[in-house]
Amino acid sequence: MISVQSLYKQFGELEVLKGIDLNVEQGKVVVVIGPSGSGKTTLLRCLNILETPTSGKVEIDQQALDFSGKVSSNKIASFRRLTGMVFQSYNLFPHKTALQNVMEGPITVKKEAKAKVEERAKRLLEKVGLGDKLDFYPFQLSGGQQQRVGIARALAMEPKVMLFDEPTSALDPELVGEVLRVMKELAQEGMTMVVVTHEMKFAKEVADEVIFMDDGKIVEKGKPAEIFENPKTDRTKQFLRMIE
Ligand code: ADP
Repeated sequence: MISVQSLYKQFGELEVLKGIDLNVEQGKVVVVIGPSGSGKTTLLRCLNILETPTSGKVEIDQQALDFSGKVSSNKIASFRRLTGMVFQSYNLFPHKTALQNVMEGPITVKKEAKAKVEERAKRLLEKVGLGDKLDFYPFQLSGGQQQRVGIARALAMEPKVMLFDEPTSALDPELVGEVLRVMKELAQEGMTMVVVTHEMKFAKEVADEVIFMDDGKIVEKGKPAEIFENPKTDRTKQFLRMIE
């Protein structure tokens, strides 16, 4: 479903991604861990071209973009629709209800019919446990509820892949579980997911593969049990000791 080859990203002089290769099969969940500044967010943002890679190839669901040449903005726009992204800050429209927030993308970006979108949005809000909060505004919702609206909003675009960038980092501890539960359900339903998170319990339980990044490179990857119980590199061992 996802294939990344020799991905490089530079911000000015700073090389942030130094040759990333990554494959994710359909229905698999990959969790990306690593120290702050190692390039995890940038990798995720390169997967939906919120950042333009400096070079390399990114392919999702058989749509390939090769950044060693020029890539047209049309191609990028259609590529972006393959992925749904959930951010650390939920960025909901403050003056729109939960339902309106979820309906916004399909109506304005995909020009879908309102009745059809409304039905889907209600179903998705029910799925994330907010069927009774359709008409609530973001300020009337807890952080965990707002993030679940964020997940429903991303799903409303019917993406092939869901990308999560530290989706629970901004939440009070008691609200983290409800968001992780929704993500776990999504994984169990077969959604292909790439998740940047510090929630190691989630990684252990849900990830098919854990990727440890450091200094713009993938240092180690493997099944959660391999990475957490039997890390091979000193760098991974050191990182895991620090977060314990
Ligand atoms: P992580 O998610 O692992 O914490 P990031 O991908 O956010 O790492 O950042 C990696 C490095 O890239 C950091 O040094 C960060 O300061 C730098 N960086 C990220 N985004 C930008 C940007 N838009 N402009 C310049 N530097 C950036």
